[in-house]
Amino acid sequence: MSESISSQLKALTQQHAQLTAQLDGMQADYTKAKASAQATAAGHRASGDAAAAAMRAAFAAAAAAAAAAQPGTKGMAAGYAAQGRGFLMQAQGFNAQAAAAMSALDAPRAALSEARSSLRQLDTQIKTLKAQQRLMRHPQLRHIKFRGFDNARGISELMIREILSELPPRLTAEIGNIHYVHKFREDMALGLTSQHLRPGDKAHITLFDSFTFELEEREIEYKDTVIHEVGHVMFGWLMSLQQQLAWGMLYLDTLRSGEDFVTDYAALSKREDHAESFRIYQTNLSKLYAKHRERYDIIDELYKEIS
Ligand SMILES: [Zn+2]
Repeated sequence: MSESISSQLKALTQQHAQLTAQLDGMQADYTKAKASAQATAAGHRASGDAAAAAMRAAFAAAAAAAAAAQPGTKGMAAGYAAQGRGFLMQAQGFNAQAAAAMSALDAPRAALSEARSSLRQLDTQIKTLKAQQRLMRHPQLRHIKFRGFDNARGISELMIREILSELPPRLTAEIGNIHYVHKFREDMALGLTSQHLRPGDKAHITLFDSFTFELEEREIEYKDTVIHEVGHVMFGWLMSLQQQLAWGMLYLDTLRSGEDFVTDYAALSKREDHAESFRIYQTNLSKLYAKHRERYDIIDELYKEIS
């Protein structure tokens, strides 16, 4: 997993270096082309200005000749006016050439901005991969052994590490390994956590295949399952016998009173009640606080103890 991240990172870094070099070349070419287009355009514009001045002089001469109103001056006026129109067309032609010289830069400018945006995309991808790499090396999770996730669909080692990195280190320290087993369980359960039987035991979490086809739903299911299973780790490894008994009383009270549990599944046992409450604490804190205050208080207290 981490090897594939570093090989992806290497490939992206190579792409990044290539594109940066390419972009530098494009930028230099563009700067040159821009300077030359500007010089060409300035030349055309100067010619245009000269033609415009000649046009104004010709029209002034035409007006003067017309005003003189002597024999022959009418023909002269028409001649000057025709010259003036000729200069006008020249001036327009030069201005159009100046505009064309500048618009030749449009395509290289667009290519440059496209290359820049590709480079920004690469930057983002590299940043994401680096964050993943940090997650894979997260010191608090380094001891956990992952197995079987290569062909898992909807859950990955990285997703689990992401979830666990948010939890108190003293809790994740109790997890020894997390395995994915490609098999459907009859009870459709997606996860299973070992019992804490002997001192020194670490929790062993197993995840199973899901009947859910849709990938996004599957991801949500698995994320919920992982948090639920970590709830079992909290109950079995970090709660004192007294705290477990207190939870058991709470469970029985709710069962007797007929009140709602946090979920239907929570009604199965005090352990499931706790794991589901822990999951809601992680994913919908205000709901647990508002509707199941006693459960919130116990988990919150434990959190303070281990954080
Ligand atoms: Zn459970």
